[in-house]
Amino acid sequence: MAAILKDSLRTIQTYRTSSPHYTDLLDILEEILILREEFRRRMKREVFPVEEKLVAAKMAGGLPLVDFSSLSCELLEPKEYFLALLEIAEKRNPGETAEIARKIRDGEILFNDLIYESFNPPLPDEEEAVEDEADASFDLVELFIEESLRPALEQVVARHGDAVAKSGWSEGYCPICGREPKIGEIRDEEGTRYLFCNQCGFEWSFLRIKCPFCGNEEQQTLAYFTVEEDEQRRVDVCNACKRYIKIVDFRETNQKADLDVEDIATLHLDMLANDEGYD
Ligand SMILES: [Zn+2]
Ligand SMILES: [Zn+2]
Repeated sequence: MAAILKDSLRTIQTYRTSSPHYTDLLDILEEILILREEFRRRMKREVFPVEEKLVAAKMAGGLPLVDFSSLSCELLEPKEYFLALLEIAEKRNPGETAEIARKIRDGEILFNDLIYESFNPPLPDEEEAVEDEADASFDLVELFIEESLRPALEQVVARHGDAVAKSGWSEGYCPICGREPKIGEIRDEEGTRYLFCNQCGFEWSFLRIKCPFCGNEEQQTLAYFTVEEDEQRRVDVCNACKRYIKIVDFRETNQKADLDVEDIATLHLDMLANDEGYD
């Protein structure tokens, strides 16, 4: 569910104090969330219409509601949002994104192509593999491309989220948009694990002893680690496929997890997981 902006900003403020090394990223996230709210309100048209009668069949077939393997719809609003997001980077580093903004405005780069490539990435070539790790892990433009679709996809969640939640979806990728989760949470009295999609903001329940990425259910090859003194945040790893997912568990403090913010505030866990050979 979409977190309330006011609450998110308050959480960000708290984390600025508790995790000062994330201040820059939290500042960026704050700007994104404020813009997101603005564009959410502006959304009039349905960017990704989904036929109601197809929902059940898609869910049963393991097909996400929005199909990014072909992209034929008009993405006017996401494009406008993307251009506004680029300003966040431009303000920090003048000149950095001006060129890409110009090319998109002039039609030299088609925004639809950027989105298509983001969902259907070409195989990484070697040059990319040796790219500086810090750069690769936090590419603002890539982040903005993803974020640009968020308000439009949230509409799909608002309209069909309940039906999807009841459909018994058991895949490790998002039933709304097909992206893989990076973070999730444990909540409810039963301690259900929910996976969160940063792309569209949807959360779905998923077995606790199962790898979302390869489906492995063998307890011996599934493990987790935490960082000293923080039992509320952990990393679930799968030794069959070497993937990981971050999981927060706030049941003890009764705090509501804001997973957009948590994803940023737990980047040290991503680094640790990468160092251990998980990705
Ligand atoms: Zn999604
Ligand atoms: Zn796995």
